[in-house]
Amino acid sequence: MWNLIGKEISAATGAAFSVETRSSVGGGCINTAYRVEGGARRFFVKTNRASALPMFEAEAGGLHEIAATCAIRVPNPVCAGVAADRAFLVLEFIDFATRSNGSGEELGRRLAAMHRVVAQRCGWRRDNTIGATPQINTPTENWPEFWRERRLGYQLALAARSGYRGALQRGGERLLAKLEGFFAGYAPPPSLLHGDLWGGNFAFDRDGTPVVFDPAVYYGDRETDLAMTELFGGFPASFHAAYREDFPLDPGYRVRKTLYNLYHVLNHLNLFGGGYLGQAEEMIARLLSEAG
Ligand code: ADP
Repeated sequence: MWNLIGKEISAATGAAFSVETRSSVGGGCINTAYRVEGGARRFFVKTNRASALPMFEAEAGGLHEIAATCAIRVPNPVCAGVAADRAFLVLEFIDFATRSNGSGEELGRRLAAMHRVVAQRCGWRRDNTIGATPQINTPTENWPEFWRERRLGYQLALAARSGYRGALQRGGERLLAKLEGFFAGYAPPPSLLHGDLWGGNFAFDRDGTPVVFDPAVYYGDRETDLAMTELFGGFPASFHAAYREDFPLDPGYRVRKTLYNLYHVLNHLNLFGGGYLGQAEEMIARLLSEAG
């Protein structure tokens, strides 16, 4: 496998490369990751079973999409493929510094700059994954419809298939029927989104420049990225303040935040099981009471 990956890297970069040493990199959720070195060059390589190739291709496409904005640093994708029955994704290796070396303000401003990049429609040119779950990005003009059909509705249907019926589905159905009510007077332009912006998916390089990685890119309401930064924490207060100063949020974010994070909590229910059921039901109940 490593011989083949070396050849693919050589072809993609136009300079002969062979993997001389490799070491495991921890911290990921889904894939096995390595730092590989040869000569004076090094790369970051993720591997998974062969059927994961479309997931890696979508990740590379998402990194390209963000890189093209020049708004925020991402690892540049090098190549992806299958070698010896393993799918692989090769990225530029970035030396990460400890978090205290980085500036939360800068991260906030760069994310705001990325969110200023907008498309005509919500969605993206291809589907990708959120964790290991498919994420459907078929474009629509209408954001509430996108959130209902491609995000909450999709995860609720997956949950029903896994046997989570009853209160979750009844509440979910009522919520979807009332969704438009959360968007009165609010029509967000489709911003370029990271899509999976939890605290494990940002870092700072040795110069203190913020880096985001492992995205689940699509175009939609920028509030969804902000909501996720608040779901599991890990983002400094300076990040939140700088983002809001640069690109103020609509007051309705306070309520929609829960609507947006419900997607990730449902995804966690579908990926990791019943521990998230109570949290999802509680969020739905709160949203229904806010919807009136
Ligand atoms: P997974 O897809 O399995 O969740 P990640 O993309 O989150 O994997 O990467 C796992 C870990 O590897 C990250 O937490 C980060 O510390 C490190 N990492 C990610 N991308 C790079 C990179 N381009 N260069 C160096 N280290 C990286």
